[in-house]
Amino acid sequence: MKRERLPLRPAAQYRELGVELVPGQRVVELGLERRSVELENGATIAWDCLCIATGSDARRLPALEDALYLRELPQAEQLRGLIERREPLDIIGAGFIGCEVAAVAVQKGCAVTVHEALEQPLLRVLGSELGGYLAGVHRTHGVDLRTSVASTPRPEGNLLVAVGSVPRTQSGLRLDGGIVVDEFGRTSAPDVYAAGDVTKHFSPLFETHIRVEHFQTAQRQGFAVGRAMAGGTEPYSEIPWFWSDQYDLNLQYAGAGLAWDETVIRGALGAPPFSVFYLRGGRPIAVAGVNDHHTVARARRLMGERKRVSAQQLADPSFDLRRALA
Ligand SMILES: Cc1cc2nc3c(=O)[nH]c(=O)nc-3n(C[C@H](O)[C@H](O)[C@H](O)COP(=O)(O)OP(=O)(O)OC[C@H]3O[C@@H](n4cnc5c(N)ncnc54)[C@H](O)[C@@H]3O)c2cc1C
Repeated sequence: MKRERLPLRPAAQYRELGVELVPGQRVVELGLERRSVELENGATIAWDCLCIATGSDARRLPALEDALYLRELPQAEQLRGLIERREPLDIIGAGFIGCEVAAVAVQKGCAVTVHEALEQPLLRVLGSELGGYLAGVHRTHGVDLRTSVASTPRPEGNLLVAVGSVPRTQSGLRLDGGIVVDEFGRTSAPDVYAAGDVTKHFSPLFETHIRVEHFQTAQRQGFAVGRAMAGGTEPYSEIPWFWSDQYDLNLQYAGAGLAWDETVIRGALGAPPFSVFYLRGGRPIAVAGVNDHHTVARARRLMGERKRVSAQQLADPSFDLRRALA
């Protein structure tokens, strides 16, 4: 995609909406007491109501500060350059970013080695069934996937570190792996809201605080928080959803990444389309489907509407999940 097409909206559109954009200036102080933020250049901007939407940074490994971390455009361009030149690439971390980069790079002809501390790729989010399946997929495509790696490798040459993210939180607010907000985006400080990756938000559906680092949630929670700041009374209450494309596989996930105590496979594991359901106390709390969009979409509705469906029904591809939605 061309650089000029990347901004969410052209600057003129913000002016038309009556939004004053202050680019190139970091906020260095929220000014919770005096109600005015301070910018890097020393300027201050007074506020009646404040929203923090500062996202997250790539988690860095102190011993590997010089490596490539994928967060901003220059690093993405650097990565694209080395992939286009078919240079060898080592990746630390077999999470979504590590796996997606590995898939693209190996298909473009790079020699790719992935180093992962856990026994399978994406193990924490997807569990061992899908983790094991994806490990096989990557290896079949030629990725040298090394799992259960005990110490941080220090390969020479191109190294991408993709080991998760850290929310860009602010002091003076209640934090717990993110800025803690309620279902309206309200923080612990009066008239201060937060939205997107930086938050750990209360989900009425899951009855707990959840942190989601995906585009759709950031966007839709952002809309909801904006409405709440303008006096709206509708809480944000949706099942998070995202997808990941690796090779010819479209992996879709709906749920909040919470701990589960049982998995149920719908279809044949390893023969797409199939899905894995994650249950807690007999209730589905997440689903991950491989080339199985319909199952994920229906399961998302089931979870959102808190419909009851048994593990046997989930496991049975001949049981139409729409029947449980009626
Ligand atoms: C490489 C990569 C691939 C991804 N792929 C996917 C994907 O395929 N699907 C998906 O759903 N999600 C994906 N994500 C996650 C997705 O990008 C985030 O969930 C989403 O961007 C979060 O939106 P946000 O508005 O909360 O934060 P951001 O998009 O991070 O925006 C935060 C903004 O705040 C600015 N900022 C930070 N601190 C300050 C400050 N002190 N003062 C002023 N401005 C500040 C930042 O410069 C930035 O512009 C990916 C992320 C990365 C890094």
